[in-house]
Amino acid sequence: MVHLSRVRKCPQPHHEHRAVNQVDGSLESPYVYASRFASEELPEHAMAEREMPADVAYRMIKDELSLDGNPLLNLASFVTTYMEEPAERLMSDAMSKNFIDFEQYPQTAHIQNRCVNMIAELLHAPTTNNDAGDQDAIGTSTVGSSEAIMLAMLAMKKRWQNRRKAEGKDWTRPNIVMNSAVQVCWEKAARYFDVEEKYVYCTEDRYVIDPKAAVDLVDENTVGICAIMGTTYTGQYEDVKAINDLLMNKNIDCPIHVDAASGGFVVPFVNPSLAWDFRLEKVVSINVSGHKYGLVYPGVGWVFWRAPEYLPQELIFNINYLGAEQASFTLNFSKGAPHVIGQYYQLIRLGKHGYKSIMLNLIRTADYLADELRKLGFIIMSDDGGRGLPLVAFRLKADDDRLYDEFALAHVLRRRGWVIPAYTMAPHSNNLKMMRIVLREDFSFHRCNLLIEDIKMSMKSLEEMDESMIQKYTHYMEVHGGKVPPNHPYYKNEKHSLQGKTGKSHQVC
Ligand SMILES: *Cc1c(COP(=O)(O)O)cnc(C)c1O
Repeated sequence: MVHLSRVRKCPQPHHEHRAVNQVDGSLESPYVYASRFASEELPEHAMAEREMPADVAYRMIKDELSLDGNPLLNLASFVTTYMEEPAERLMSDAMSKNFIDFEQYPQTAHIQNRCVNMIAELLHAPTTNNDAGDQDAIGTSTVGSSEAIMLAMLAMKKRWQNRRKAEGKDWTRPNIVMNSAVQVCWEKAARYFDVEEKYVYCTEDRYVIDPKAAVDLVDENTVGICAIMGTTYTGQYEDVKAINDLLMNKNIDCPIHVDAASGGFVVPFVNPSLAWDFRLEKVVSINVSGHKYGLVYPGVGWVFWRAPEYLPQELIFNINYLGAEQASFTLNFSKGAPHVIGQYYQLIRLGKHGYKSIMLNLIRTADYLADELRKLGFIIMSDDGGRGLPLVAFRLKADDDRLYDEFALAHVLRRRGWVIPAYTMAPHSNNLKMMRIVLREDFSFHRCNLLIEDIKMSMKSLEEMDESMIQKYTHYMEVHGGKVPPNHPYYKNEKHSLQGKTGKSHQVC
């Protein structure tokens, strides 16, 4: 069926003075906003028959994208929003290179290997001698931590299965032990690869994994324990050493994978003496997001293994691609080269001193922000003093007289452009509502003070509202993206049926 109604045009009575297109009889102008394209809907369901001039296509898309949020004001995400101009130039120069084509782009492949070695050294990875006598770490670039975690999960599962098969035991029911506050990619990996999820639940006042509870959950089908540096909810670091020591003392043969998506580029510079990485014997693999505190635009991630024995050979494909032998352990084949190149730029441009200075600035600003929020009456849920990621997780004090909640505050802040998410804490923590501000490289002390002023102003304007206005706000929030948590009183009104559709709280990234 043809939906004629889809082609919506503005009524235009004054077309007489314009040139008529010889092909389709439409009115033409070389000036973008005087052309017919400015008075027509853009193609959405089917491609147009004819071309559109490049400057028109560019302008139309650019204009539409201005409705997206401003990345600089997006304090919801860990993902990099600032890179220096020379890095951007290098990356756009490499845009047309396919990363996987090692033979055609051998220097890009070498650059990846250098990144693997340099980052692995930060994580104290043991090195092995390769054929050329060089020291090489075992790892690979990925699109992000999600792909990295899927690869690590597959390696742990395969290794466990191989051992079980060799012992003549059942190898069909693998499980993994992790915190209920894991990032969603762990649930994905577990389901995609048929690994049962065994959770240690958070409580109202503990948001990190309980090491003893984790080790107690381990059984003969456990492929590994996941520990997080640090969690997406509160940024706190999990006690990897306690898990490691318990496994060692009890002589339990179970590996640990550390999800250091954010912490991998923070802890080595802020808490160099904290042992959480390959210095711990039971840690067999670690993932890091290059596009978080690795300071590269999305998407690039990294995954490392302690030794070849933790990366079963059958997962590595030696492919002959366009004449060159190459080893590959990835979920996809083709991908862009710019992000690996961007990572190498940051590593050599900043050096350890540069990364350390950036991370210490962020920790100082985060501590200051936490102090200021405390003064405003908030309860701080994250750790300060660099004992967690440079973020501030906080919530309002319980107060029956207050009409507004964290979700309303998030919404009012949005009016100024700040994106600061409100969400409910991981399952079993009494549905605590909370907010989170992630500090990234571009969040200077000055911008922090501007934000604090806006938080004060937003609270003041909410305090001045009466109940009916607050209700209007709640309604508005529901309409704009399902941001109301499933347990919100809003849903007591039967007309609103979102509950049950989502069930799960707003996912944070
Ligand atoms: C961001 C994050 C992930 C997912 O990483 P991507 O790089 O976005 O795929 C996984 N785990 C943790 C702890 C994270 O913070």
